[in-house]
Amino acid sequence: MYDAIIIGGGPAGTTAAIYLQRFKKKVLLIMKDMGALGKTAHIDNYYGFIDTITGPDLLNRGIEQAKRLGVEVLEDEVLSIDNFPDFKVKTINGEYTSKTLMMATGKTQTRLKAKNFNNFVGKGISYCAICDGFIYRNKKIGLVGNKEFMEEELEILKNFSEDITIFTNGMDLSVKVDKPVVLDEIQEIKGNEVINQLVAGDKTYDVDVLFMAVGSPSATDFALRLGAFLDASNNLVVDDQFMTNIPGMFAGGDCIGGLLQIVKSTSDGAHAAIAMNRYLKNMNK
Ligand SMILES: Cc1cc2nc3c(=O)[nH]c(=O)nc-3n(C[C@H](O)[C@H](O)[C@H](O)COP(=O)(O)OP(=O)(O)OC[C@H]3O[C@@H](n4cnc5c(N)ncnc54)[C@H](O)[C@@H]3O)c2cc1C
Repeated sequence: MYDAIIIGGGPAGTTAAIYLQRFKKKVLLIMKDMGALGKTAHIDNYYGFIDTITGPDLLNRGIEQAKRLGVEVLEDEVLSIDNFPDFKVKTINGEYTSKTLMMATGKTQTRLKAKNFNNFVGKGISYCAICDGFIYRNKKIGLVGNKEFMEEELEILKNFSEDITIFTNGMDLSVKVDKPVVLDEIQEIKGNEVINQLVAGDKTYDVDVLFMAVGSPSATDFALRLGAFLDASNNLVVDDQFMTNIPGMFAGGDCIGGLLQIVKSTSDGAHAAIAMNRYLKNMNK
């Protein structure tokens, strides 16, 4: 059992891990890749670097610092989280439990380039199988995705309908599925009030709903499944202690919005860690 699991090894998550480790907490930091810093070639506005530093270089320094202080760093992808009574975090390769959790997954948007996509979000396009699957029991379900996250959502959707088609949207399928698969890119979404057809390749498919499970689950995906509040821009809502409405679940960095910069993410990480330490102390009283 960990005191804290931190999802995300960017500036927010790594700073939180460093602070919590120095509070002598048992911390696990899980990261699947380099996040936003992996796409950043030049950083000139972060304190203390006389010369330009690259995003990957800054990230590796942070991770090495966290490891030196004793943080356990795991390179894996989180697929799902349960939160009763403790936080149970399932990754591609394992399962871990913790008393508290911090979401520091950065900002990701899984939107399709398909024509009319934005018009149907919430009108037959869903981001959460466990929230909306029941509404579409025995209906024609489309599911977009190509890897473990999609597989996870598929298992949930099978409880509600047998008529499920996987759309990889032009990506290779990297997991085995026992449902029909369409490999073509989705070009258009059709419907009136709600979605009723998809155009992919040169074919049209009837669907009553399209579930999104593209790439890896983001903070927004986890929030929807756990019932955490999101604002109008899909940022996680936190209080002045960086805690979400789920007791023991904290968040910081780009996934809570505000200034999308490294300096703000590290600040969020420090604040969240201090609040998590206080929360853990109160738990043990
Ligand atoms: C091209 C570009 C240039 C930029 N230039 C600058 C700059 O010059 N100066 C500046 O201050 N800021 C810059 N930024 C912004 C800055 O990079 C971000 O504000 C900052 O990295 C956000 O930190 P974060 O910790 O919130 O998220 P991120 O750094 O995005 O880290 C997110 C972490 O979450 C992990 N993660 C996500 N989902 C999962 C999952 N399901 N399972 C496991 N792990 C997961 C990722 O692997 C990653 O480790 C730039 C951003 C971009 C894209």
